Amino acid sequence: MSSIISSRSRRIERSEIFEMLARAQDYDDVINFGVGQPHFNTPEEITDYAFDQAKKGYTHYTVNAGDIKVRRAIAQKLQSENDIEADPVSEIIITVGAIEALFLALMVLVESGDEVLLQDPSWVNYEAQVKLMGADPVRVPVKEENNFALRAEDIERRISENSRVLMINSPNNPTGGAIEKSELLKIAELAHENDLMLLTDETYEKFCYDIEHFSPGSLRKYRDNIISIFSFSKVYAMTGWRVGFAAGPAEIIKEMIKVHDSVGLCTPSVSQAAAYKALQVDDEVVEEMASTYRKNRELLVEGINSIDGFSCIYPRGTFYAFVNVKDVSQNSLELARDMLDREQVVTVAGSSFGEAGEGFLRFSYANSRENIEEGLERIKNYSRNYL
Ligand code: PLP
Repeated sequence: MSSIISSRSRRIERSEIFEMLARAQDYDDVINFGVGQPHFNTPEEITDYAFDQAKKGYTHYTVNAGDIKVRRAIAQKLQSENDIEADPVSEIIITVGAIEALFLALMVLVESGDEVLLQDPSWVNYEAQVKLMGADPVRVPVKEENNFALRAEDIERRISENSRVLMINSPNNPTGGAIEKSELLKIAELAHENDLMLLTDETYEKFCYDIEHFSPGSLRKYRDNIISIFSFSKVYAMTGWRVGFAAGPAEIIKEMIKVHDSVGLCTPSVSQAAAYKALQVDDEVVEEMASTYRKNRELLVEGINSIDGFSCIYPRGTFYAFVNVKDVSQNSLELARDMLDREQVVTVAGSSFGEAGEGFLRFSYANSRENIEEGLERIKNYSRNYL
């Protein structure tokens, strides 16, 4: 049977995150720090608008690149919030989540045998996508002592004649790290000098604490080698609607649209309507969610740091904390499984995100305060009784 499965498909494995979530189904009363999505529902005005549009007949295919009205709204958002200039007709594509934008970009940019530079640890799908292209991921480790921020000098050392693409993600899943503007300038310059296409995944752009988000796509000098990728999923609590977008050079976006036509044809129209409305909601709606995450961050980090054997630096963005467990385990997967089996607390092993993630557990604090408090109590018990 396996002989009919392509070598491309066989290059990747199912993520351990799903394994943990499946295992958690064996238990009642689980405290889940594992899921990487907002615990909020989509703001009602967004859902109402989308449903209303669907009822009025906005239920057909849109053009491949996405409804021009929505692309225009995206162009305006990019201009006013990110200082990115993008022509809605030729330089923007609406995709099925940021994940599809990343996939399409890699499809049109890399060949088998090319190298793609990405952070270690990084979101699991980066490596999977690169491998599906037949290309090779080259990992650039980030360190806890540098606040998990990617550094240009560490990237530079790993550039080879086969390097084609550099994928960055700030604020970052899984570490919660964020890259300072000064370092992003160096990274953009490095990509430019070395003829690398820079993919900036800005999925968590609005969840930044103690740092301002900066979009490298705003640097006009490097316009030709940056693709800026965004998502509605986390910022507007819209994970299930599946909408993201990419802005970049027309020549590349045109190719991405061609591939998108063969993959999904267009992003669902009802979801595009929701995205259109999301861009109009009051800033306060997102700020309120961000403020909840900020408070949860403090609750979780302070709680974790009061437990023997666990420690955590303050994440600078997203809703993830990368908790150091090196004092108690050399095998984060075993530890995560044991914590689930004994205390019914779900976390994700740092090793799932790359070698440099070993010795850490990822906690999502997109959760209610009660759940976070209860989860911390259970980890305290775990530390007391089993470590
Ligand atoms: N990029 C990062 C870093 C993520 O963490 C995620 C989702 O977890 C995505 C992209 C995918 O977002 P979307 O739901 O828009 O496909």
